[in-house]
Amino acid sequence: KRRLTVCVVGSGGVGKSSLTVRYLNNHFPEFYDPTVEESYITQMEYGFDAHDVEIVDTAGQEEFMLFRDTALAQGDAYLALFAINSVSSWYSLQELRDKIVREHEDEENIPMVIVANKSDLEAYRQVEFGEVSEYCRSIKCPLVEASAKTGLNVTEGFRMLMDRVSEI
Ligand code: GDP
Ligand code: MG
Repeated sequence: KRRLTVCVVGSGGVGKSSLTVRYLNNHFPEFYDPTVEESYITQMEYGFDAHDVEIVDTAGQEEFMLFRDTALAQGDAYLALFAINSVSSWYSLQELRDKIVREHEDEENIPMVIVANKSDLEAYRQVEFGEVSEYCRSIKCPLVEASAKTGLNVTEGFRMLMDRVSEI
């Protein structure tokens, strides 16, 4: 089988690059060019074995949404981010989820984990946890509150996604 592709998606500034770098290198990058799409090969465990996995840190999604032949269609699994201090990123995430499902022949069970990032910014929260967990329950999608900055639940988010991959 070809290599599994994990796409990290979400609107600009939610912390896709920070979370990916935190996961791979266990540090929080001070600056990451928001226009750069990077792709990394790493080893991850799923289905009782370690496999090569490609992690695509997407960027400039507003443009690539126009094209079918893109990360929105090519991923095998999705880590879908919003930031708890940005209600617009939360609305974008729900639209993104619908687009991804549509691009995958309406497969509602496409492996996905929703990551509520920037949980360290609790004082600036704009998105209620209850609303998010309700939505995630309705679409049967696991949810994790994480922080690329502190490292909270970053590995856990990727782990949960690999568990979904193993199940399907
Ligand atoms: P991307 O556009 O989704 O790739 O977002 P970036 O990873 O470039 O992050 C956008 C901004 O949010 C940067 O200033 C990051 O330092 C900041 N950021 C990312 N993750 C977190 C987090 O968990 N907590 C806080 N406080 N800031 C974060
Ligand atoms: Mg980025």
